[in-house]
Amino acid sequence: MKSRRRPYAEQRPHDLGGGVWSVPVPIPGNPLGYTLVYAVESPQGPVLVDAGWNHPDAWDALSGGLRSLGFDVSGVRGVVITHFHPDHAGLAGQVRDASGAWIAMHENDAELVRLMSEYAARDHDDFQTDMLRRAGAAPAEAGQATGARPAPPATPDRVLRDGDLVDLPGRKLRAVHTPGHTPGHICLHLEDADRLFTGDHVLPGITPHIGIYPFDRDDVDPLGDFLASLDRIGELGSIEALPAHEWIFQDVATRAAEIRHHHEDKLEHLHALLAERAEPLTIWEAAAMMTWNRPWDDLSPMLRGMAAGEAAAHLRALEAAGRVGRLAGVDPVRFHALDS
Ligand SMILES: [Zn+2]
Repeated sequence: MKSRRRPYAEQRPHDLGGGVWSVPVPIPGNPLGYTLVYAVESPQGPVLVDAGWNHPDAWDALSGGLRSLGFDVSGVRGVVITHFHPDHAGLAGQVRDASGAWIAMHENDAELVRLMSEYAARDHDDFQTDMLRRAGAAPAEAGQATGARPAPPATPDRVLRDGDLVDLPGRKLRAVHTPGHTPGHICLHLEDADRLFTGDHVLPGITPHIGIYPFDRDDVDPLGDFLASLDRIGELGSIEALPAHEWIFQDVATRAAEIRHHHEDKLEHLHALLAERAEPLTIWEAAAMMTWNRPWDDLSPMLRGMAAGEAAAHLRALEAAGRVGRLAGVDPVRFHALDS
């Protein structure tokens, strides 16, 4: 890859041509650095794709960045959210307060936002601790992986489904449902210019977190969904990708195929780990044996929890493909290979 990630301090708002602008919005204290918020022009004010993290510095960057490009945040017509995570949806409510803009997201993520708003922080911690225990984490470790949770994002005014056109007068911006990173993740295809806002679904240098919550669910398959969503984006061909992090890149199809291969390798490796073992593995044991970007012993409790979520999503995808089984009636749940 020719480009590389540069720190937030080196980022600037850009006119990308064709009535599209980008504004880097910092994510304070996060190694990802920033969210790229995009503005797409319309005769009735720009529509934003994502809004950034809810923090005063982020607000200053977003409103100041828009101003430097000739817009005022009070003139924003709408905010379409690729997914409900706080680095994307966090500031949407403040934009709406300043402008009267609508907020739109996919119906599946809108439902999660509704559940989050009803959920007390203490219930969240209990849920997390119990989930980690059922995955096979030692009780002391399970208790450590909880922690600060950002406030739920603003409730959307509008929900989108696959294929819906975003309310953007004079242009064609279509929602493409790409579940995986979240159940309601969408990419947005600017069909009149053949450019794709990819959110976190397809990023140029990293891959999004794919987890399953709670870890021991067997009624959903987020990784299977994610791989199918990558294939779907691959069908759009070698068009330009405007991602929510890192940098803009050409040829979304090639990058989507690379990410698919990354997960296929991980699935094969995990299957081999299970096949080599006489004893079935807990989710926690499987996570500790998988390869992460740092050794397991160096991962913080929070990162171990995320790794376990990712391990669980891979185990579930192998199970859905008929290659792994789970032992019924044991706690914590255990998985074993079904073929070799
Ligand atoms: Zn993100």
